[in-house]
Amino acid sequence: MRLQQAYSAEHFREEAHRLVDQLADYLAAAQSQQLETVIPYQSPEENFLFWQQNAQEGAGASSDFFAEVIQRSTHLHHPRYMGHQVSPPLPMAAMAGMLTSLLNNGMAVYEMGLVSNPLERILSELLTHKIGFGAEASGLLTSGGTLANLTALLTARATQTEVWENGHEQPLAVLVSEEAHYCIDRAARTMGMGSEGIIKIPTNARFQMRTELLEAYYQKAVQSGRKVIAVVGSACSTSTGAYDDLVAIADFCEKHQLWFHVDGAHGGAVVFSERYKPLVKGIERADSVVIDWHKMLLTPALATALLFKRNQDSFQTFHQKAQYLWANQGAQEWFNSGKRTFECTKLMMSVKIYAILKTYGEEIFTENVETLHDLAVRFAQIVHERQGFELALAPESNIVCFRFVGEGRTAEQIQILNAAIRQKLLEEGAFYIVQTTLRDKLYLRVSLMNPLTTENDLTALLDAIERLAMKM
Ligand SMILES: *Cc1c(COP(=O)(O)O)cnc(C)c1O
Repeated sequence: MRLQQAYSAEHFREEAHRLVDQLADYLAAAQSQQLETVIPYQSPEENFLFWQQNAQEGAGASSDFFAEVIQRSTHLHHPRYMGHQVSPPLPMAAMAGMLTSLLNNGMAVYEMGLVSNPLERILSELLTHKIGFGAEASGLLTSGGTLANLTALLTARATQTEVWENGHEQPLAVLVSEEAHYCIDRAARTMGMGSEGIIKIPTNARFQMRTELLEAYYQKAVQSGRKVIAVVGSACSTSTGAYDDLVAIADFCEKHQLWFHVDGAHGGAVVFSERYKPLVKGIERADSVVIDWHKMLLTPALATALLFKRNQDSFQTFHQKAQYLWANQGAQEWFNSGKRTFECTKLMMSVKIYAILKTYGEEIFTENVETLHDLAVRFAQIVHERQGFELALAPESNIVCFRFVGEGRTAEQIQILNAAIRQKLLEEGAFYIVQTTLRDKLYLRVSLMNPLTTENDLTALLDAIERLAMKM
């Protein structure tokens, strides 16, 4: 019987030990940079053909398949990984991922989340405490910042309108910076607000929301018959890592009795650092806050905290009847996770986070956040001092945007050159960085996500860029 063999404990013991060895070898090779490629780049078609061929070969040893996956993936544990804002997860947390995948408790109801539901509450309240919320605060975990931001806006809507029961009676709107993550735009449109309902406030030279314009945009929305349900502050924005002035947004929201949501998916993690926490001054006045554990907090994706100043608000988001799930439908039970999350079945993400906390203490989060931020400050200094390079702005977070300008090149040539440099870096695969366009200028962009990245790696990146530029 195939099934019996596939479920066999001894079979698992053997295969899993082999996988652990493969992964430990990967970690050692990546971290020591014996592994030369951060990203083994191939075109989508090349990769598709490879896997098509692989599929045609039929069944084979799992270790061969795992070896291909390891080799052909982007290596976040390589210190020269400086690309998108996803954490190179701690091995401990990844181990907990294997544990939770095997146990597979679905969480929606208490009986299916005996461990993960209480841990989720403990972790939520660790964060609400760090934020500076009071005793009524708590929160939940959900599958990613995108879903968490949508959920927060649904809560904002549910506490202020009857849309859930009656459908739309009045067009709604949210106010957000033009630099906000695209998922806020997507959430507002998903909620039926249309392009007029997602009102984008221009940003200043540091790419922060120009909060002095909020009043005028708000009045215009109200005059056109819209009900504004929330203002969203970015902490920080994705492309430049700029933190909005949360105090100014809080004052505005207080004045007009508006829901104040903070998208801290990336930068909310600074609440773990006394040194960097001033970046989110005012966050304690928010009604809801999103923080991704899988960005600066060492956890495998996805694991996102959605936190509420008044925990009871979160029970209004989806007040729906599911008799077969919950005996006491109306009760505000923290332990029945599915009552207030989009997901029904949900990953036991709290176990992965708690494994880090329990093993290393919360200081490890502090250390990571500070290391990554300090590294960005240092990199900006190196770029600033180096001939031929230019910073887009001094970084506030672990994200740095810069470009190669060289000498005597026109604006258009610089644009083309930097796009070509980034493409070439991708194809060579020795570094992984990305690019972004700021006010029509193309910049190279690094987010320093790997705390094992050193100044030496950063200098080597600039050397590589210069070498490529000289050949173009
Ligand atoms: C990454 C990010 C998101 C999206 O979160 P996911 O976990 O990738 O869904 C939203 N907002 C900001 C500011 C982010 O940095």
